[in-house]
Order: sequence, then structure tokens, then C-alpha cells
Amino acid sequence: MMGDNCVFCGNQQLDSKTTRYIYQKHQQLLIVEKVPCLECAFCGEQYFDVVVVQKIEDDYNAIASCQKQPARFVQVGIEDFSTLAP
Ligand SMILES: [Zn+2]
Repeated sequence: MMGDNCVFCGNQQLDSKTTRYIYQKHQQLLIVEKVPCLECAFCGEQYFDVVVVQKIEDDYNAIASCQKQPARFVQVGIEDFSTLAP
């Protein structure tokens, strides 16, 4: 992906940034902060290197199999969209 155009809008400027990555598997979530990515300067689409995503998946698997503990936990609210105020 490095050096390519944005797949969604065709913009050529992709900036190196860090962001929050939310990994999801089997109804479980792992939030990883400060993950390196390329972000489209026009539409904001974010691109992650396959090595980066693999590392996150490995970490999720380590936590899911109790080989390590996450650094911290957060409590999150959940809503069904159909129950939201009109
Ligand atoms: Zn774009």
C-alpha cells in the first residue's frame, strides 16, 4: 500500500499517522492505541500494513488464550440503533 493512491477517492496524498485500531473476532473486541497507518488527506480512509494487522491479531490471540493480559480495560456502552431517539 505504501506510496499508492487512495483506493476510495484516488487522492495521491497519504499521510503517516497513528490511530486507534479496533480488532473484532467472535464478539470479542481488542482496542489497540497508537497504531501506525497511512491516512488519506482527502477522505480520511486509513490503510494498515499487513504486518501491523498481523501483529494485532497475534496479540489478540495471545490475550484470548490467556498467555498475556491487556494493558488496561475500558467499559463501553452498547445501543441498538432501532432503540435510539428519532
Ligand atoms: Zn481518499
